[in-house]
Amino acid sequence: MIIFGTRTMPSKRQEGHFHCPRCSAKQPYNRVNVNRWFTLYFIPVIPMGSAGEYIECLSCAGTYKPEVLSYNPDAARQETLDTIRRSLTLFMAAAGRTSMDDVRKLQEAILDVFGEQVSGSAISQDLQHAQRAQVPLGPYIAKQLGGLTPKGKEAVLYAASLVVSIGGHIPSYEAQAYSQLRAALGLAPLEVEEF
Ligand SMILES: [Zn+2]
Repeated sequence: MIIFGTRTMPSKRQEGHFHCPRCSAKQPYNRVNVNRWFTLYFIPVIPMGSAGEYIECLSCAGTYKPEVLSYNPDAARQETLDTIRRSLTLFMAAAGRTSMDDVRKLQEAILDVFGEQVSGSAISQDLQHAQRAQVPLGPYIAKQLGGLTPKGKEAVLYAASLVVSIGGHIPSYEAQAYSQLRAALGLAPLEVEEF
């Protein structure tokens, strides 16, 4: 009786450094190719091609899809900051806060809450765009910021409260924009939110 079958065997293809999501740091990796072999009496005799590949972190042994190599934490951070800035600017437009003074307030709020400098001209451009495009606040926020962590969402709401000075006497359309933002972020009303 001839015993035949197939089996898969990993083989190292390439090594390098990448940003490991589990380690949250730059680590060495192996790119591993999994080959399928035709076996005879349990001995691999004929290669049958690749059955897939993965990236293995040599520090934590975590394995990932090859796409992980193109992840750039600095670019991702900048993209998130841009999205937060655009979202808060849209909120300002909805709240009718569009003066240069309001632009400065938002700059300060983003610096206070996120520790990041954003330029006033970027906010002004966002504001012009927001006023032209008439994007509805709620759906935009839900779509753009739905993926933030609960802490991230709270931070966005807090930054918004700094711009409209929640707690003092604020006009109803500002309160309405704030409630829309809060609801779109899926957050409960704050205690200070009494108008
Ligand atoms: Zn790792």
